[in-house]
Amino acid sequence: MLKEISSYAERLKVELLDFMEEYIYPAEKEVEEYLENPENRWTIPPIIEELKQKAKSQGLWNLFYADDNYGKGLTNYEYAYLCEIMGRSLIAPEIFNCNAPDTGNMEVLIKYGNEEQKQEWLTPLLEGEIRSIFSMTEPTIASSDATNIQTEIIRVGNEYVINGKKWWSTGAIDPRCKIAIVMGKTDPSAEPHKQQSMILVPMDTPGIEIKRPLKVFGYDHAPTGHAEVHYNNVRVPISNLLLGEGRGFEIAQGRLGPGRIHHAMRGIGQAERALDLLIDRAEEREAFGSKLIDKDVIRVQIAESRLEIEQARLLTLSTAHKIDQYGAKAARKEIAMIKIAVPRVALNVIDRAIEVHGGGGVSQDFPLAEHYAHARTLRIVDGPDQVHIRDIAKLEIRERRKNKSIKL
Ligand SMILES: Cc1cc2nc3c(=O)[nH]c(=O)nc-3n(C[C@H](O)[C@H](O)[C@H](O)COP(=O)(O)OP(=O)(O)OC[C@H]3O[C@@H](n4cnc5c(N)ncnc54)[C@H](O)[C@@H]3O)c2cc1C
Repeated sequence: MLKEISSYAERLKVELLDFMEEYIYPAEKEVEEYLENPENRWTIPPIIEELKQKAKSQGLWNLFYADDNYGKGLTNYEYAYLCEIMGRSLIAPEIFNCNAPDTGNMEVLIKYGNEEQKQEWLTPLLEGEIRSIFSMTEPTIASSDATNIQTEIIRVGNEYVINGKKWWSTGAIDPRCKIAIVMGKTDPSAEPHKQQSMILVPMDTPGIEIKRPLKVFGYDHAPTGHAEVHYNNVRVPISNLLLGEGRGFEIAQGRLGPGRIHHAMRGIGQAERALDLLIDRAEEREAFGSKLIDKDVIRVQIAESRLEIEQARLLTLSTAHKIDQYGAKAARKEIAMIKIAVPRVALNVIDRAIEVHGGGGVSQDFPLAEHYAHARTLRIVDGPDQVHIRDIAKLEIRERRKNKSIKL
């Protein structure tokens, strides 16, 4: 039997479900229509800020962080149930201040920031007043191997001077985005995992150039967007460095572990919503003499979807539980597994739902096409599948070798 969640987490779950029905799903169209007006394209739909205030006043806020001081003291296991619900809508995570990359950036500031950095950047992020970016990936190198990173962070007197080109900096175009966490090299002559550092760069620092918004299968994801950002002789005080020179890799590892599990949790929600839409559509339509819902081929798709979702959810929950028990490092094989398994399932289920919707499925009239595009990126963001497959195999072989030597 599955471990139970606390009555507090259970109550939050019910409240979240109600909030989704009452406010989030109805707001999706309003957000879309607002953003379709070219004058509004890179501005914030007022309904988003209104709903943020409402969610905050109801205590549905910062649920992601497993600490009473900053979050709500939920375990990862409990948060898995809640994050899944938020994942059902692409606009929801931000409304509960639980969206990437801000959650990861807040975790970095909580874990590695000093008091001044926390005061200046963490507090407004926790309040949902500003937004942030994580600027690691670069266009000219294979960034899934972070040792390749080329951006320079060079100390000159009491400042660091940053030069480099980044892309896929999610959130950079958002007018509320005020701070970047930039990864670069402070010492290219150090050993490979000690060359990188992370530094806080206010977005209004001279030399930051937003070159262009990138599109995902044609979606620009306005008003947050994903940008190519150039750092041209950007100067910040040395006090902006996080943790210390050469500690960037350590921070990246600490940041990406929790982020990956959150992506997986939301992916389950995407699959659940797609299955709901699939069934509802099949109930409505009739073709070749019977309702779609009565056709065996559709029923097989429904059953296969349920099977896949439950397997992915169980793996996600057991991973969350292992993180709670032993920490993210001990659960790294499981984290890698859900990072691969969940997007696959989400894509399968969304694809089936698209098919059952016919032409409507790929249109803007249903959320499926956008969810599909989003789920496809999950196989790349925070480490492509191939990199996680490599890690799983490595850990599996290591365990086998260890066990064998014990038996012999
Ligand atoms: C929508 C979206 C949002 C993103 N947001 C951010 C963000 O906010 N901040 C940020 O810094 N980055 C962000 N990224 C970038 C993302 O994290 C990178 O794209 C990802 O880490 C892969 O790096 P890369 O694109 O350089 O691919 P590469 O490193 O060039 O890898 C390309 C491909 O090579 C193959 N490959 C790599 N390693 C191996 C291996 N060991 N064995 C076999 N095959 C391998 C894989 O198929 C991989 O997909 C985002 C990307 C997308 C699409």
